[in-house]
Amino acid sequence: MPVSRQPAPARRPAHRRSRAGALTAAVAALTALLAPAPATAAPTTDERAPGYDQARCGNRSGRVLLSLDDWSYDDPERAVRVGEYLRGKGIRAAFFLIGQYAAQQPRIAEDLRKQGHWVGNHSYSHPHLPRLSESRARQEIHDGVHSSLLRPPYGDFGPREERLAAGLGQRICTWTVDTLDWQTSGGVFRSPEALRASVREAPASAKTGGVILGHLFTRFPDALPGIVADLRDQGYRFCRNTGPTTPAIADPLPC
Ligand SMILES: [Zn+2]
Repeated sequence: MPVSRQPAPARRPAHRRSRAGALTAAVAALTALLAPAPATAAPTTDERAPGYDQARCGNRSGRVLLSLDDWSYDDPERAVRVGEYLRGKGIRAAFFLIGQYAAQQPRIAEDLRKQGHWVGNHSYSHPHLPRLSESRARQEIHDGVHSSLLRPPYGDFGPREERLAAGLGQRICTWTVDTLDWQTSGGVFRSPEALRASVREAPASAKTGGVILGHLFTRFPDALPGIVADLRDQGYRFCRNTGPTTPAIADPLPC
């Protein structure tokens, strides 16, 4: 397996899915079953198509999008190894890197894009955006990785963040399956087997055209081979890797 095991990093950000994020995912899963998502408070400067689903990030392909957040603090190259592994499987994933780290080592994002992956904005320093003043929140979004997709840290956002992102030409992108890979017990991250099971057992509505959330600093990269095998066994297809990408990510997602 090309993805190495990493010890728990000393400075990982605390991860907790916000109520807003949980609600968004739940509502998205439900609306996807019932009807096209209603267009609520669509920003005028946004270029997203009608019916854009934030939890699905514009994925209307039926395919599964894998996404990996933050940074591998002790081993930044791990992201590139994960990217190479997925590229070898013909899979395009989305990496939402924390801006301050990505800026220190810009080659990581460059390599991921060359490998055919999307690299999105996850803010500059990973704050809860709604807790900031408007000018600070806008700065955090502005200073993050240059991309048309914004994944708010902790999935924490409201109408103000939607508006700020839209004003910067960015769409909110959360997830439909949370592997909870950031949780620890006795200082140890959830095991690859547990992460694999959480994806395998997630409802079909969250996987068909869905977005799976994991992190670069947890055991999620180690769980990917099992997750890929399980989902393919279950008949799901992944977003296809069709070669290098740019910061401009289209809606609908070209999966
Ligand atoms: Zn994060």
